[in-house]
Amino acid sequence: LLKQRRELHEALARVQELATRDSLTGLINRRHMQELLDQELKRQERSGAAFCVAIVDLDFFKRINDTHGHHVGDEVLCGFVRESIEVLRNADMMARWGGEEFLILFPETRAEQALNGLMRLREHLAGKALSEAVPDLVVTFSAGLAEHVNSHTLRQTLERSDRALYAAKASGRNRSVLAPVS
Ligand code: GH3
Ligand code: MG
Ligand code: MG
Repeated sequence: LLKQRRELHEALARVQELATRDSLTGLINRRHMQELLDQELKRQERSGAAFCVAIVDLDFFKRINDTHGHHVGDEVLCGFVRESIEVLRNADMMARWGGEEFLILFPETRAEQALNGLMRLREHLAGKALSEAVPDLVVTFSAGLAEHVNSHTLRQTLERSDRALYAAKASGRNRSVLAPVS
């Protein structure tokens, strides 16, 4: 009976893992991040301390797949995640938001500090080999950052980060753009 109970416990933990994690990178998945964002919104409503959201998208990623193969693309995604975790603060949370797109939640953080975090990540990444198979492969990212505005919904904040990301891509990539407040 004890063994059965332990197995059930392990199975439940595994289901929980499958439901909240991205299988390639091990990051939180999009659905779970939505829950974390909801929690952070509630926290902000209580405390008033701002939080920021960044949508990060790897630059010219399709070219990496096309040139070196999907396997190297996967390796780069995992390498990018590994380096990001090393550089970001413990409190920051990163999720796989789409294929080569990531969302970083900076809890209780103003835009200036979040921009600093993204800059640290950019600098850290500049000299890093993310693929063992192709050691000289260098990867950059573009980011759209939004500080949540009190009267806004989460959806509005995510849309502002998305538009800022688009602006970062359109103005040359390998940069972070801060969304205006509106
Ligand atoms: P941009 O700088 O404008 O973002 O260009 P891009 O090439 O990064 O953007 P695009 O959206 O054209 O291509 C994204 C590519 O990411 C296409 C898709 O095949 C690839 N991709 C998405 N998920 C995965 C994955 O899990 N593994 C690999 N290897 N590739 C993936
Ligand atoms: Mg991309
Ligand atoms: Mg993309």
